[in-house]
Amino acid sequence: MTTCPKCGEEITSLRNYIPAQVCYDVQYNAKNDMLDYYKDGQTDPDDDGDYECPECNQILCLDADAAKKILKGERGGDIDGS
Ligand SMILES: [Zn+2]
Repeated sequence: MTTCPKCGEEITSLRNYIPAQVCYDVQYNAKNDMLDYYKDGQTDPDDDGDYECPECNQILCLDADAAKKILKGERGGDIDGS
């Protein structure tokens, strides 16, 4: 367990928001006269996204290494640098 460098709340996890493009395969279902959607989404492997505090929703860092440091309670991983 560690504390959020922004709000000071104790946190055990971060929220990782990753930009993603989601694609659906759309097929006509003659039996039900409706469309069936099959999801085929993927995230950008080069973008770690934002790591945010689940308590204050502020962005704490932008990559997995920094997120690991924050969750281990080490400073220097947050977005303000240092
Ligand atoms: Zn916070």
